Amino acid sequence: MKVYNTLSRKKEDFIPLEEGKVKMYVCGPTVYNLIHIGNARPMIVFDTVRRYMEYKGYEVNFVSNFTDVDDKIIKKAVEEGVSAQEISSRYIEECKKDMAGMNVKSATFHPLATQEIEGMLEMISTLIDKGFAYKAADGTVYFRTRKFEEYGKLSHKNLDDLQAGHREIKVTGDEKEDPLDFVLWKPKKDGEPYWESPWCQGRPGWHIECSVMAKKYLGDEIDIHAGGEDLVFPHHENEIAQSEACNGKIFSRYWLHNGFLNIDHKKMSKSLGNFFTVREIGEKYDLQVLRFFMLSAHYRSPLNFSGELMEAAKNGLERILNAAENLEHLKSSSKLELMTSKEEALWQESSVFAEKFEAAMDDDFNTADACSAVFELVKFCNTSVSEESSQEFLGKLYGRMTQLCDILGILLEKKEIILDEEIEGLIAERQAARKEKNFARADEIRELLLEQGIILEDTREGVKWKRA
Ligand code: AMP
Ligand code: ZN
Repeated sequence: MKVYNTLSRKKEDFIPLEEGKVKMYVCGPTVYNLIHIGNARPMIVFDTVRRYMEYKGYEVNFVSNFTDVDDKIIKKAVEEGVSAQEISSRYIEECKKDMAGMNVKSATFHPLATQEIEGMLEMISTLIDKGFAYKAADGTVYFRTRKFEEYGKLSHKNLDDLQAGHREIKVTGDEKEDPLDFVLWKPKKDGEPYWESPWCQGRPGWHIECSVMAKKYLGDEIDIHAGGEDLVFPHHENEIAQSEACNGKIFSRYWLHNGFLNIDHKKMSKSLGNFFTVREIGEKYDLQVLRFFMLSAHYRSPLNFSGELMEAAKNGLERILNAAENLEHLKSSSKLELMTSKEEALWQESSVFAEKFEAAMDDDFNTADACSAVFELVKFCNTSVSEESSQEFLGKLYGRMTQLCDILGILLEKKEIILDEEIEGLIAERQAARKEKNFARADEIRELLLEQGIILEDTREGVKWKRA
C-alpha cells in the first residue's frame, strides 16, 4: 500500500510501527457551530482510509479530538449568555449526529481538550525543563522555535523566510524572545474559562492539545497523522516541534492532508461565509450522497461543490443501490440454489473488479478509481443476472458489492428522504382534513411524518415543523 506523505512529498510504502496495527490521529473540529461540508471532507476521507486499513486486516486505533476551548467558542458563549462548556457540548452532540448521518464511524477515542489539561501541563513543564520553552513576564509560555532544529520539515518552510514574514507584523509589547516562537499556555482574560498552572491562571494554546492527546491515547510514536491541508502550517509543524522536542522520538511516520472543498473555486469556510452546513445538505439529500460525492475525487485534489455534481453523485449512488436491490429481489424469487458451472466462471471473472478496487485504494487511496471499479461491477451484475440465476450466484455478487461499498462507507439499503416541499404538502393536506373534521386522516398524517423524523407543532401562528 502506497501513501503520499506530506513530510517527504512522495508516495511511500506503508509500513506500520507494529505489524498488523495502525495508530492514527485526525485533528477534529472546533465545536462552536454546526459543522460545514468542508469540515466533513476530512471526516469522510480519513474514515474511508481507516475502513480500508481494517479491510486489509489492520487493527486501527483511530483517535480524533474535539477542540472544545477556543476564542470562537468563548465568543459564541458570550453572545448567548451561556458557558463555553454548554456551547461545546451542544455542538459535539450535533457533530456526532452529522457523523452518524454520513456513516462516519466513531473514533476509538474522541478526547476533549478540556479533559486533558493535566497532560498539557506536564508536556509544557518538560519542554521548559529541556530548554525548548520559556515563561514570559505576563505568564505566557512560548515554544523556542529556533531551538528545534528540524522546524519547517513538514511544511518545507525555511526559518529565515518565516522570520522575514514575521518582522513586518511584529507587534510592539510582544514579550517573545523571537517572533517565530508560538504559544503553549496563555493567561486568562476576564470571563474566560481558565485552569491553574505553575505559570499563570490560563488556558492552553491550540497546538499543544493535539500533541498531548496523541501521546496519551496512541503513544510517543504514531503511524498516521491527518487533517485538512490548512493544518500543515503552523498547526502540524508546531505539533511536530512540541512532540519531538518533548519525547525525543519521531512523532508520526506519515502525514496525510486532504485538499479543500471549494465553492466557486474558493475555500469553503465559516469566515468567508460561503458554506453549507451538513445539516442543510441533509435536508435535500440523503447524507450518503454527500459521502459519495466526496469520494468521487482523490482526497488530495481540490473539490468544487456544486448542485450538478451532487445530482451526479445522487444518480451514481442510485445506480449502485438499484443493482443491489435487483440482486436481492431476484434472489428472493430464485428457484435454483447452487451455482451452475457458467455462473462459477462468471463469479471468477467478477474478481477483477475487486482487484481493480484494491489496486486503486493501494495507490494512495484513490477513491475516484475505486468508485469506477464499483460501477464496473454494477454493470457486470446487471448484465450477468436474470430470473434464472441461482441464489448462490446472486448472494455472492451481493456480498462482493457489500464488501466494496462497506469500505467506501456506503450502505446498500435504500433510505427514502422526505423533502421540504413534500412535508409542506402533507401539512396542507392535514390542515384540510382537520377543517373537514376528518381527524383520523389528520392524525395519520402526523404519524406518517413522525415516522420520517418530522415533528409537528400546532402554534397560534400556524403549524410549525422540525426534523428530529
Ligand atoms: P476547524 O474546525 O476549522 O479546525 O476544521 C476541522 C477540520 O476541517 C480540519 O482538518 C480542517 O483542515 C478541515 N477543513 C476546514 N475547512 C475545509 C474545507 N473547506 N475543505 C476541506 N477541509 C476543511
Ligand atoms: Zn490538531
